[in-house]
Amino acid sequence: MSISLKDLDPHEINDWCPGCGDNGILSALKNTIVGMDLDPHNMVVVSGIGCSSKLPNFINTNGVHTLHGRAIPFAEGIKLANPDLTVVIDSGDGDTYGIGAGHFVSAGRRNMDIKLFVHDNGVYSLTKGQASPTLPENRKVKGIPEPNINSAINPLELAIFSGYTFVARTTSYNIKEEVDLMSKAIRHKGLALVDILQGCPTYNPEYTSPQWFTQHTKPLPSTFDPVVKDPADMKEVNAKKRAAIDMLMSEDENNIYTGVFFQWENPDTFEKRLQDRHITAPIHDQIADNDGRSNIDITKTIQSLLV
Ligand code: SF4
Repeated sequence: MSISLKDLDPHEINDWCPGCGDNGILSALKNTIVGMDLDPHNMVVVSGIGCSSKLPNFINTNGVHTLHGRAIPFAEGIKLANPDLTVVIDSGDGDTYGIGAGHFVSAGRRNMDIKLFVHDNGVYSLTKGQASPTLPENRKVKGIPEPNINSAINPLELAIFSGYTFVARTTSYNIKEEVDLMSKAIRHKGLALVDILQGCPTYNPEYTSPQWFTQHTKPLPSTFDPVVKDPADMKEVNAKKRAAIDMLMSEDENNIYTGVFFQWENPDTFEKRLQDRHITAPIHDQIADNDGRSNIDITKTIQSLLV
């Protein structure tokens, strides 16, 4: 039976500020689930800490609101335990690219079939708007006394260099594009990043308003082809990576592209590597006999611990 938007109604009413871009991302995620006819019971939305990380509370799927910067390892554990689940991470830029940066890079080396939808507003909004790792140098926002003294990282470049096999960018107020990119990311078999430039009208109103995004972002040129045609051809893979990096390095504040930068249907996922080593997911383990009695014998383990 198909689900409707109403089926995804939140467990609780969200407490985001009026006009917050998180609302657009939540709406896009719901529309993606309905559009793809995904089963909410076979879906898990994972988050870390931050305004955006409240999202699992506001959508009627399985969800985990975890620790600061730790959404990725939680999501990896869930996917390893049950590879049949659709696992999505909705977390912020501070959470993912700051304290979670080590996990962000390590995830690229594994290429697990999980999806990162990063709410990127340039500030730590839950803690009053300090500069996040994506706030450009010399940009002044409400929560810092002086213009930002640090330079910004480019999360899309970092993702491509780290091994992500699907890398895209959109904005929180462009629901149509968000749904398109979220759907492509979920259909992609492998690790996908969709960096979503997100409006924070409370702590970064000047640089994240719908007007600012309209004036400073534009779709990638129609001639730009991000898709690797022959997944086994490493020359082509590297050429597509270089083209994506060149495109990203050509950007400036007035020319920020949205769309898919890189897509490689690389069959070498972490799940496939486990399969090759005959390691099965715990979800497929037989843990009880037909009468419901545990078939796991821990006697030897207990004996080994006796002193
Ligand atoms: Fe949204 Fe910013 Fe308000 Fe947080 S502080 S809920 S990110 S508008």
